[in-house]
Amino acid sequence: MLVDKEKCCACRVCVQTCPKQAISVIFDKYGFERVSINEEKCVKCGICESVCPIINPKKNEGKRQCGSAYSKDQRIKYSCSSGGLFGVFAKKIIDENGVVYGAAFDENLHLKTTRAENFEQLKRLYKSKYLLCDTTGVFRQIKSDLVSGKNVLYCSTPCQLNALKNYLQKEYENLLCVEFVCHGVGGQKQFDDSISYVEQKKKIKIMDFGFREKFSKASSHYYYYYYYKDLRTGKEKLHRDIYMTFPYYFAYCDRLTCRESCYSCIYATENRVGDITIGDFHNIGKYEPGIDRFAGVSMFACNTDKGQKFFESVKDNLFVKEYDWLVIKSNNRFDGIEEPPKKRDRYLEMIAAGEYIQCVQTFFAYWKDWRFYYYHMPKVLRTLGNKLLRK
Ligand SMILES: Cc1cc2nc3c(=O)[nH]c(=O)nc-3n(C[C@H](O)[C@H](O)[C@H](O)COP(=O)(O)OP(=O)(O)OC[C@H]3O[C@@H](n4cnc5c(N)ncnc54)[C@H](O)[C@@H]3O)c2cc1C
Repeated sequence: MLVDKEKCCACRVCVQTCPKQAISVIFDKYGFERVSINEEKCVKCGICESVCPIINPKKNEGKRQCGSAYSKDQRIKYSCSSGGLFGVFAKKIIDENGVVYGAAFDENLHLKTTRAENFEQLKRLYKSKYLLCDTTGVFRQIKSDLVSGKNVLYCSTPCQLNALKNYLQKEYENLLCVEFVCHGVGGQKQFDDSISYVEQKKKIKIMDFGFREKFSKASSHYYYYYYYKDLRTGKEKLHRDIYMTFPYYFAYCDRLTCRESCYSCIYATENRVGDITIGDFHNIGKYEPGIDRFAGVSMFACNTDKGQKFFESVKDNLFVKEYDWLVIKSNNRFDGIEEPPKKRDRYLEMIAAGEYIQCVQTFFAYWKDWRFYYYHMPKVLRTLGNKLLRK
């Protein structure tokens, strides 16, 4: 065992560095990715331990500038999940012939760290995907881009960024690390099971999926979308709905699906791994009343001089307002351990027993949940209701 399975974040850096190819990733009965070591091949050289981001975290101390920001370019803002900071950063890198790495679904809806060197390729990287991203083979590719002198932007979870840093073993001036504030990831297999469940129930084939759809009706809460083929008519269509109607997304938002390592994340702290940290500015309404936070307002924090310098270089493309770190801190998860919900054990046991339909009926019966009706109310009624409740 490298690290306890409860602590492993499945970043796969050990798989990518093992000189004997003794390490692989398998799915456990709950649908989580687990590292497996072939004892016959293992020579106990310890390289895997030296690169493990859980054993060797590398965080930056202190903060430079932080605050709220969003893209002035509406197309970028609406292509991204939040204020479009990732889109603005990525544009600058690609405009200057650099390359960008982020998470994209492949044709089988398998989430993989993916390279983009032009705007067409970049499109698939936009937006949050709330499951573990597979980094297989990517750290070597990033190193080769860095060594060839290309400017590289890598945007990911803090644990995966740290994994890359440990893999590289040295600082590269041409690497910009951007992390998002992360409250955890679920397993690919859990997501796949949910896709299959919906496909069978509706007799469709889902071809593309997005977790964060921005459209006017979505101003109440998170909406997802998928493109699908109707297997009865052969027609291709778009479906979008509130998060609760897709089992995996409901489980994610109710905090049931995350890996154990996410509930006790060693990176959910004030000192950060990335040169720049980005996230949703959840409480922006408190400081800038009237602003539409669902259209996208991000928080940012520059954690290194490199991050600050880069941020200055793109500032003209953003609406920026500086806030004290304490304001930013109060708005998000920077304080470590979170208790998993009590019902998570039962949920996982049902998944392990293959009782997916019963599981949906027990935990994700959105039609019995008041939130479903609340989120579907017209915005005026919701606002009025909220005001009355606060009195
Ligand atoms: C799993 C997850 C949990 C998050 N939790 C929080 C939270 O608790 N609080 C908060 O404020 N913000 C959270 N975010 C971040 C938030 O949703 C936005 O992604 C962030 O604010 C950046 O928005 P953006 O508009 O600048 O760019 P976006 O369009 O959102 O770009 C996001 C970037 O992250 C990459 N990415 C997306 N999904 C993954 C993934 N699974 N693994 C690795 N890289 C990925 C994309 O490729 C892209 O580079 C989370 C995001 C994810 C993916």
